[in-house]
Amino acid sequence: MCNFRIGQGMDVHRTETGRRLVLGGVEIECEFGLLGHSDADVLCHAITDALLGSLALGDIGTHFPDTDPAYKGADSTVLLKNAYGLVLARGYRAVNIDCTVVTERPKLMPHVPAIRKSLADILSMDEECVSVKAKTAERLGAVGEGRAMEAYCTLLVEKMASCGA
Ligand code: MG
Repeated sequence: MCNFRIGQGMDVHRTETGRRLVLGGVEIECEFGLLGHSDADVLCHAITDALLGSLALGDIGTHFPDTDPAYKGADSTVLLKNAYGLVLARGYRAVNIDCTVVTERPKLMPHVPAIRKSLADILSMDEECVSVKAKTAERLGAVGEGRAMEAYCTLLVEKMASCGA
């Protein structure tokens, strides 16, 4: 395998009143949250898929199936860490991560620094290598109407020097 590999991931979750809203491991105060078998952290799920995808290791559903009661209410940061463990075990590390969360509400910009720090901590990366962007959907479609939230991630992994080329 080559020294550099790219991964991309995306995820979407429905919104639901009364659920917790957790993005990148950060709980955000909001009148609604995201519906899902786990804690429905749409951002962590997109990054998890991108990490697995970078080394063609399948996706979040193959490693952490939502039919498994073990993952009911699961902390998605643990799933993310486990997925990164699979990448590290194969001798690769993440170089940088670039994410976009798409939602009309709440305004995410004030939360971006905390989310970046949380992700950097989970993955033991420098914050400057973890980018989180927030966009709206211009009120179009399910996301624009507030019925769903989406997250996208692109990342680069490189083979660690100690593992050789
Ligand atoms: Mg998901």
